[in-house]
Amino acid sequence: MDSAYTMLSSIVRSIPDSVWRLAADGMVVEILEGADGPYPLGPDAAGQHLRDLFPEEIATRCLHGIGKVLEAGTVVDVGFEQAASGSDGGRTFEARFVRADQNEVLGFVRDVTKRNRVESALGSQNLHDSLTGLANRALLDDRLAQALRRTWRDGGGLALLLLDLDRFKDMNDTLGREVGDQMLISVARCLTEAVNDGDTVARIGGDEFIVLADGLEDASGVLSLAERLSAAVQTSVRAHRSDSPISTTIGVAVAIDGDSDAATMISNAETAMYHAKQVGRGRIELFDSELQRRLERRLDLESALRMALANDEFEVHYQPIFNVASGDITGVEALLRWNRRNRGLVTAADFIPIAEETGLIKSLGAWALRRACSDVVVWDRSGMSLGLAVNISTDQLVDKDFVELVMATTTETGFDPRRLTIEVSETAVLGRDDTAAQNLTLIRQRGAQVALDDFGTGYSSLNHLRQLPITHLKIDRSFTAGLTTSVLDSKIIESTIALAHAIGLGVIAEGVETAAQLNMLGEFGCDEAQGFYLGKPQSSVDILRTVATHRSTTESR
Ligand code: C2E
Ligand code: MG
Ligand code: MG
Repeated sequence: MDSAYTMLSSIVRSIPDSVWRLAADGMVVEILEGADGPYPLGPDAAGQHLRDLFPEEIATRCLHGIGKVLEAGTVVDVGFEQAASGSDGGRTFEARFVRADQNEVLGFVRDVTKRNRVESALGSQNLHDSLTGLANRALLDDRLAQALRRTWRDGGGLALLLLDLDRFKDMNDTLGREVGDQMLISVARCLTEAVNDGDTVARIGGDEFIVLADGLEDASGVLSLAERLSAAVQTSVRAHRSDSPISTTIGVAVAIDGDSDAATMISNAETAMYHAKQVGRGRIELFDSELQRRLERRLDLESALRMALANDEFEVHYQPIFNVASGDITGVEALLRWNRRNRGLVTAADFIPIAEETGLIKSLGAWALRRACSDVVVWDRSGMSLGLAVNISTDQLVDKDFVELVMATTTETGFDPRRLTIEVSETAVLGRDDTAAQNLTLIRQRGAQVALDDFGTGYSSLNHLRQLPITHLKIDRSFTAGLTTSVLDSKIIESTIALAHAIGLGVIAEGVETAAQLNMLGEFGCDEAQGFYLGKPQSSVDILRTVATHRSTTESR
């Protein structure tokens, strides 16, 4: 016996696993017994075939594993159970096959009976989500790994669907955790009903669920399951609260014949989900390599954005705001622009969401505020006194130093804060804590105005309007667009204006693109308006000229 073989034998005697040497055809060459003693096969099994030693089903699984190992050279796990004998409750084994050489395979066989019993005892406590009773991340990982091994061995498709409830957080913040919890429980129940037997439904985060579906052969099967899940969520949400704006975004990853691993599948489903969210909520997106490329482009954009502030690539443009009754320009809204190197001007809509996600918005927003205040102060010198509206994102507004920052900026630039309007969205104001509302109250005490931007697109409720320290409503341009074509939209705008006036708020209509829209806004008594028809966002130099020209023509009339 050579020394390597002696060493192997003594190693095997000190570990729990026993080692089988098997020929490619399933003939047992030798059994080395491990420290845990008598295993399903003892040394006397040498010279016999697996088919003679085990029931047909187990033998076939082992032979299949041996075939795969010799073919692909990777490690293959095969689990099997030996039926009970006497008082023994049956035992469970796990065999890991590795290639020894061209014609031989080594099987490391371990008795996992005890481990399985402990796991199943702990299982119901540690493997399930306590709120919904669904599988948790640990159980999902385990099931996914098993399913991948099974499809690798037996062939077939496997899909991982990552579901995220859109706007759940807003709802949770607005209506309270208890309502949110009840909704999660009912969504969990509907998902469980919508999947096939044997599929796993897991909750892996606040409002994130994963469905692991087996036996799916093609993309259309996967997509119809995704649609079913999406509809199930919708039904349960509606049944729960008919006014809820919640929808579901689903990212899907697929593996065929086990050609993936658990980590890759989860990350692919996340990529698909991430992409779906960018295209628009409530979508289903399948992971593919084109998606991967698009994502890489997005990451490029992120890093370019990070450099842009240091490279001085941002500008502030200004859109004029008109008094509807008099036709005067009363102020401007500051809108960020990114003058991207070699690419030209990028509008705020294309990069603000990324700046918000990456946290860059805080420094960028502070820069924009300062730039805008100092621009307006410069215009004052040409006798051009204008009000200034500046957009503020959630992250800025919930910062405890926000008011201090605004006051320092106005003082240092010499801008009177009473001429400043802060534009915020409803979701920004309805944060988890009261910092946002407190900051708005403080800023109003210093004389600034507060406008609720994009009104009508968020959670708009009368209760918020009553509670929030705001001075103006800005009607979103999606309503303005329907003003002269949709009776419903015009009724909505007309009554919004009346309601706002009744509770002492001013109204600004956004996105006015035609004379007809402007006329109708005049009839409804809307206070102010802005839009391409009246004036596009323009550079600081251009806006100065626009305002001067406008004032001289209205004066000469
Ligand atoms: P917003 O505050 O609702 O600004 C109005 C957006 O509508 C602007 O897009 C403007 O160019 C566009 N717009 C104005 N009139 C019309 C019109 O007649 N028709 C159409 N189709 N569009 C019109 P922009 O500049 O891309 O800004 C998008 C959003 O980005 C803004 O929406 C605002 O929420 C955010 N944003 C812009 N600048 C800043 C900033 O300095 N800080 C922060 N935090 N957000 C900003
Ligand atoms: Mg705005
Ligand atoms: Mg708006």
